[in-house]
Amino acid sequence: MVTLTLGAVTVNPIAEIEYCPVHVSFLFNDLTTEDMQRNLDWLDDEVVDIVNEKLGFSFRAYLVKIAGLNVLVDACNGNHKNRPTARWQHELDSSGFLDSLKAAGVAPEDINIVVCTHLHCDHVGWLTQLSEDRWVPTFANARHIFSGKEFDHYHERMRTQGSAAANHGAFEDSVLPVTESCRFELVQNDMVIVDSPQGTVRLVPSAGHSIDHVSVSIQSQGQEAIVCGDVVHHPIQLDMPLMPMRSDFDPALAAQSRQDLLNHCADSGAWLLAGHFCKYPFVSIRRHNGVFRIKNAASAGEKNGVD
Ligand SMILES: [Zn+2]
Repeated sequence: MVTLTLGAVTVNPIAEIEYCPVHVSFLFNDLTTEDMQRNLDWLDDEVVDIVNEKLGFSFRAYLVKIAGLNVLVDACNGNHKNRPTARWQHELDSSGFLDSLKAAGVAPEDINIVVCTHLHCDHVGWLTQLSEDRWVPTFANARHIFSGKEFDHYHERMRTQGSAAANHGAFEDSVLPVTESCRFELVQNDMVIVDSPQGTVRLVPSAGHSIDHVSVSIQSQGQEAIVCGDVVHHPIQLDMPLMPMRSDFDPALAAQSRQDLLNHCADSGAWLLAGHFCKYPFVSIRRHNGVFRIKNAASAGEKNGVD
């Protein structure tokens, strides 16, 4: 398993599905064949498949080991969720996520903190598992940290419009059971989660894709990595950072958050940890003709640490 080492902190990708080609329209309404063509010199045909109009995609969380704590950022799709309106995760039965966690040397009960970048159904799924017809928390010993504004938004939507309207049912079957039996905190979007001599983990506001989306900044000994959730979905957005993603809650704000994040990574050298970038769990960013490109990448298949 590839490991990113940042000073005294390590980060492992926890892949539920590492390579999952999706049709272009799953992500973008405005991406043209010409746009795809223009990027074939730096993105291969698994990432941009122009013949079949598909884009490489992944579903991946990240495990941060810091100061003796195991911090999980995001929780992918989960198994056995009834999702007639989200076909890609309907009744999934995959060992990928738990196998990946095990390969990183951690059992679900060893997770100390879980933080979700946002509460969409592909970021909260493994918070619960089905046990005798009940949804029970997967990370029973963990503090679960959610944006209070994001939580309240979907809670209200479920109350007024029904469960399916709140992230395809994920708020009810993946988030609420945690709040009923685990430690959880509804927090501001700039909270410091871990502050230790070894390093810090803190939330960074990055709203737009969802109402109070956060990124998670990990810093140690002058180095930084940012788990960006759905601020960026696909590497082709480095070439088109202002292009809206199909399901952005506030497309203009999402574009601003994306531009800010990519500028920050290009300026500071921070690693970008994008859970939906197939093949590239860790990338660094450089500028290129007014937009961005991948500078360095650690591929999912690498055995050795990077950095
Ligand atoms: Zn997502």
